Amino acid sequence: MAAKSLGVALVTGASQGIGRAIAQRLAKDGFRVALNDIPKKEQELKSVSSEIEQQTGSKPCIALADVSNESQVEQMVGEATKAFGGLDVMVANAGILHENTKIVDLSAETWEKVFAINARGVFFCYKHAARQMIAQGRGGRIIGAASIAGRRSGFEHGAYGASKFAVRGLTHTAAAELGPYGITVNAYAPGFIASPMTTGMTTSALANYGFITPENFKFGEPKDVASLVSYLASKEAHYITGQTVSPNGGVYLN
Ligand code: NAP
Repeated sequence: MAAKSLGVALVTGASQGIGRAIAQRLAKDGFRVALNDIPKKEQELKSVSSEIEQQTGSKPCIALADVSNESQVEQMVGEATKAFGGLDVMVANAGILHENTKIVDLSAETWEKVFAINARGVFFCYKHAARQMIAQGRGGRIIGAASIAGRRSGFEHGAYGASKFAVRGLTHTAAAELGPYGITVNAYAPGFIASPMTTGMTTSALANYGFITPENFKFGEPKDVASLVSYLASKEAHYITGQTVSPNGGVYLN
């Protein structure tokens, strides 16, 4: 068992990439972690769970759910709460990328799908985590995945960029409403992080999105985002709320 639990953290989209790194980091920090992804990723989640148990001696719980479905999100929060006796940190990380489509060619179906996961999914995670945290009365940390595309949406990113701007807006409102309960709400807006989502993307392609790459710019690692989330989840970060923080290697200056 980990020496002393800092509380309970639930991470969505935790089977790979940034979510996996966040779950590993929060477990290493001393949180009991609940791992979420969509049901077809159950085997990958079991592998992440075993890695975490080996590294920390603390066994995560697995809570499968499609974050775009409200009743599944409510159940996921309930499972994590039941497994570990509460919920202190929600990381609404799950998201999908959609690019290479100009607005004139963007279908309503694509728009709805991207928003269902990236914006509505984050809304459901914020809502049900907040309800649980308010009921517990011990404060909490809610953290959502925005993106560099939620700072400046480049070419052919219409639905994705707009969905990530939505996360920032929701984060503002949630921070204002939940502050009185001692719950902080922040978002991370990574630049270009090496993960399954960005496989095949090259630094030279970034100019196509309208970014000027600094000399020697390299993609970041998922752990570069995880270390920021570790801080935002900590007690020390109590005075930071409603912010979107950009681990992006300087590729875009806010
Ligand atoms: P990733 O490698 O694609 O991992 C995301 C995980 O979320 C995948 O396992 C994915 O499953 C899962 N997921 C998709 N839809 C879901 C749903 N409805 N419910 C639950 N889980 C679902 O992405 P990543 O690079 O780690 O990115 C994590 C977050 O950071 C995303 O929100 C992303 O938009 C954001 N972000 C990433 C970057 C970057 O450079 N990587 C930059 C800025 C922002 P599938 O694989 O089956 O889709």
